[in-house]
Amino acid sequence: MLVYVLPGTLETREADLDLLWEAGATGLEERAGMVRAYFPARAELPAPVADGEWREEADQDWQSEFKRTLRPVRAGRVTIVPPWLREEVEPGRISLVIEPGMAFGTGHHETTRLAVEALSGLNLAELGPNGTGARVLDVGTGSGVLAIAAVLLGARIAVGIDIDPITIPIADENAEINGVQERVLFLEGALGEVSVRFNERGVMAYDVVIANLYAELHDLLAGEYAALLSRQGGVVILTGILTTKLPLVRDALNREGFTDARETLDGEWALVIARA
Ligand code: SAM
Repeated sequence: MLVYVLPGTLETREADLDLLWEAGATGLEERAGMVRAYFPARAELPAPVADGEWREEADQDWQSEFKRTLRPVRAGRVTIVPPWLREEVEPGRISLVIEPGMAFGTGHHETTRLAVEALSGLNLAELGPNGTGARVLDVGTGSGVLAIAAVLLGARIAVGIDIDPITIPIADENAEINGVQERVLFLEGALGEVSVRFNERGVMAYDVVIANLYAELHDLLAGEYAALLSRQGGVVILTGILTTKLPLVRDALNREGFTDARETLDGEWALVIARA
């Protein structure tokens, strides 16, 4: 990899950046007080940018670089970590190991964190029929992070569904890494298509429906959430909601008869928890 390194920052060298692009740079970045311009081949450079030097550097393994920068994420009683950081989870906290990959849900997004915090605030081990543990439905499961978190936090079972087929083997693998594969089930499909209704009279009542999607989809699916939730203490947890779109979700929950709605905000993101 060929890099042309100049003294200064992107700000102090702003006037020179166009010259680098024009000379054929394919990328620019600032590192340790130096501007680095990536070139496919050495180029003639005009006088204002002639104070740098050419360097041949070993190709960077961007995936390893990305992995190196990942840090544990604390959310409620849970710490979410990639497999190589599991030793960093402090004693007394629940460790949730997620292999970062193609599916959304490493814990680093505000909405995933808000959702795990909300699960952590429920007594999942004592919800459900006769207090035997909650039955949780995770809509848009991605890496499986929320379904797995629910089971680690005491839920009896969790079903995760996702329209993206790529997510299902990833979620299955994450369940196995966390040793909860007997208590989670991942299914491909959208709510309504997937057979998430079993049991008594063809309907399995869930104690918790959790969904990290987006406001417009929550509006469309709110009736389904209500139909799938137990009337005895059923809870819906919705996130992926931009704060500007909260009114849409509030109206949908009111329309479907949900009560006691509470909102938590993190920057531009919101989570709403309500009772069926
Ligand atoms: N649950 C994970 C989390 O909280 O980090 C992943 C959430 S990610 C923002 C949303 C996921 O929902 C994606 O994996 C996407 O494929 C899935 N999705 C989008 N629309 C869906 C739908 N109508 N039904 C089921 N899954 C859907």
